[in-house]
Amino acid sequence: MVKLPEDIKINFKQALFLRSFRARICLLVLVVGILTSALMRHAIMATYESRAVAQRTETVKNQLLIVAKHLISNNYFSTYRLQEPSMIASRQGINGELETISNLYGGRVMIIGKSCKVIKDTYGISEGKTMISEEVIKCFLGENTSHYDTENGYIEMTIPITSTGVDGKSSIVGVMLTSVSDETIVDMINIMNRNAIMLEILMIMGIVVASVLLSGVLTRPFGKISAEIRKVKEGTSEKAISVPDYAETEQIVDAFNDLLGRMNALNASRQEFVANVSHELRTPMASLKVLADSLLTQQDVPAELYREFMTDMVSEIDRENHIITDLLSLVKMDKTDQELNVVALSINDLAELTLKRLRPIARKKDIEVTFESNRPVTAEVDEVKMTLIMTNLVENAIKYNQEHGWVKVVLDADHQYFTLQVSDSGLGIPEQDLPHIYERFYRADKSHSREMGGTGLGLAITKSAVLLHRGSITVSSKLGEGSTFTVKIPLNYITSKKRGSDRDTKASVES
Ligand code: ADP
Repeated sequence: MVKLPEDIKINFKQALFLRSFRARICLLVLVVGILTSALMRHAIMATYESRAVAQRTETVKNQLLIVAKHLISNNYFSTYRLQEPSMIASRQGINGELETISNLYGGRVMIIGKSCKVIKDTYGISEGKTMISEEVIKCFLGENTSHYDTENGYIEMTIPITSTGVDGKSSIVGVMLTSVSDETIVDMINIMNRNAIMLEILMIMGIVVASVLLSGVLTRPFGKISAEIRKVKEGTSEKAISVPDYAETEQIVDAFNDLLGRMNALNASRQEFVANVSHELRTPMASLKVLADSLLTQQDVPAELYREFMTDMVSEIDRENHIITDLLSLVKMDKTDQELNVVALSINDLAELTLKRLRPIARKKDIEVTFESNRPVTAEVDEVKMTLIMTNLVENAIKYNQEHGWVKVVLDADHQYFTLQVSDSGLGIPEQDLPHIYERFYRADKSHSREMGGTGLGLAITKSAVLLHRGSITVSSKLGEGSTFTVKIPLNYITSKKRGSDRDTKASVES
């Protein structure tokens, strides 16, 4: 490959003009247009030249054939009675004809006899000499030749002089070797060429104008796309854009509209999230203010009331703390480049430990918590996040349960995944709430959740943690009967970089 010097490469890169699609179309139309018109001119001129040469050859040949007949009828090749006045006169007549032809076509005619001897030469140089050339011999053998010598500017041809004997048989008795000038053809070609060049210049001017206009028209849709995108960028429009001029522009616009849709959705969800966060954080604050105000406005408040109000204030502060801690976990989990601290762990041990920690809470409502495992399961997981998943699910199963109910945790595995099922005999989740329970701050049973200290973030955190492990979470629930959450996680952590797409595809909700 030819290596370009560095500075030329940079200049090419910097040549904005050449990087423009419009300029490239313009150049392409120009090059194609100019090449086509030049080729057409050459082809037309070449065709004209060969036609003109063929025509000239044919005309001269016809005239010489007539002369050839005169030669035979006037016994031109006879060596008898050469001095007779009638013979001299007829010879002179024929010679005159030959002279006329050679003058008319700016050429030379030679009559060559049987022994290749030149009988007549209109130039008068070769008479009496022997002329042995390939063309002459071929002509004696019956093959006519004609040849255009472009370098020296003449057309050379041979014409047989045929005589018919008394027996009716015809034989070649001589050859006319003729060369005619191509001067008039060349003059004509030059005139035509000049005109053609003028026409070509006019055509090129037309092509330049056409290429500028055409490239402008062809690239207009791209300008439209830029203008529409600019409007969106400047905030004057939020609508999906439409430039259906080409399939390609439609594809670009569709991709942009998808992006715009995603951005709008993200924006809406961010606004909703901010509104929810403010609302959630303001509730404990409002309670705190009410409690503090009532203490301040009352005089001689008894110590027990102080204590009671202070206890309420502490629990509101705890609640605020709880929300902030959950929010921080969620934000951390949301980072796309979040790396897990993955180690091979016994999931059985992890589940047992989590249940042991949560059993005291269950005991308060006399809820029986059981753990069932068909086999020991070891998997590559992040210990903290896996504990978070189990804790949130079991905590919910206890929180949204009834007195004397049960919570069952079942662990199973195949060769690829392990599944953790958390079932309860609780309140169940209404069908219309099922698709939303993983949303931030979504509570199916609002008053109950708040009462139980829920923030509405637990399942959102759980789902993020599951997806970070490239797993999936599903739920089946019947109102009044209970719910079952199923988490499925690969035994071996997949270090693929397609986390984003996995997140979308693996999250599913079963109702
Ligand atoms: P919260 O902090 O309110 O528990 P979650 O995100 O953990 O928030 O749960 C979202 C909602 O889903 C809860 O408010 C509750 O209504 C419902 N939910 C979650 N788990 C259960 C369950 N095991 N039984 C019934 N409802 C549940």
